[in-house]
Amino acid sequence: MNKRVLITGGAGFLGSHLCDRYFNEGWEVICIDNLITGSTGNITHLIGKEGFTFIKYDVTNYLDVDGPLDLILHFASPASPIDYLEMPIQTLKVGSLGTHKTLGLARAKQARFLLASTSEVYGDPLEHPQKETYWGNVNPTGYRGVYDEAKRFAEAMTMAYHRYHNIDTRIVRIFNTYGSRMRLRDGRALPTFFRQALQNEPITVFGDGSQTRSFTYVDDLVEGIFRLAESDEVEPVNIGNPQEISIMDFAKEIIEITGSKSKIIFKDLPADDPQIRQPDISKAKRVLNWEPVTSRKTGLLKTLEYFKEQVLTDG
Ligand code: UDP
Repeated sequence: MNKRVLITGGAGFLGSHLCDRYFNEGWEVICIDNLITGSTGNITHLIGKEGFTFIKYDVTNYLDVDGPLDLILHFASPASPIDYLEMPIQTLKVGSLGTHKTLGLARAKQARFLLASTSEVYGDPLEHPQKETYWGNVNPTGYRGVYDEAKRFAEAMTMAYHRYHNIDTRIVRIFNTYGSRMRLRDGRALPTFFRQALQNEPITVFGDGSQTRSFTYVDDLVEGIFRLAESDEVEPVNIGNPQEISIMDFAKEIIEITGSKSKIIFKDLPADDPQIRQPDISKAKRVLNWEPVTSRKTGLLKTLEYFKEQVLTDG
């Protein structure tokens, strides 16, 4: 019998890529999403296929599915700063109540459980690059606190289920990731810069652009998550690309790649915007034998085609 995986947030950007990966590996995939930020457009190619089921549902409510489960990937959550500022309560609920419900389901089914956590647990970090042993510098009452603290709570809850209920758990800390199926208008730097560049509009750099990020191509991320789920590692593992760049240089890179005539303009830096971010991936290398294989140049060129199509249909 095929193995069965349940993916919450399975119609989202990362969730849908994970649906593809597990489906292509021969698993039976159950995708759950309430579609507040996800879209069935991301999974239309899977809907109707044998071995794939889509359920529209909010996982902050009591959760049950028919039959056995081998693995649960909990990826449901608004994940861009604009989304979680617009949906602060849903963000807190899916990280807390949603994690509790999905862990409860993992317990009932005796399934392995993998939590999608985030580099945001490190907040505006005082340690650089960030290792998994760093506890973070988070403002709990700031605007980003709704996401950061929800994910920190989710990690704590996951470890509690592991320690108290012996659930086989995994925690991945995901750094900024990009690729096809990102929403053009989710407010994040990468889709925003692509859209602005492709429409020859001004590129909006927040602050002076000296803040840094490290961008991971989605296929590399999915490979890291797949390996983590297969591994024995219970403690959190960073998955990200350590190639770090300032947002200003990144804006210039997007202008170059798109051949755009856009100029750069500056806007206010949002509150609590992390000044630096770069994953230390020595643990992923050691325990998963994983490291990213896609350079930013290659990944951005692959993603360009997707954004060109999106811009054409942008209303
Ligand atoms: N940013 C920007 N212009 C935009 C959107 C974002 O300069 O139009 C900046 C943002 O302030 C942050 C960085 O780009 O410093 C990455 O932002 P994003 O929303 O992509 O993700 P974050 O890593 O902050 O969660």
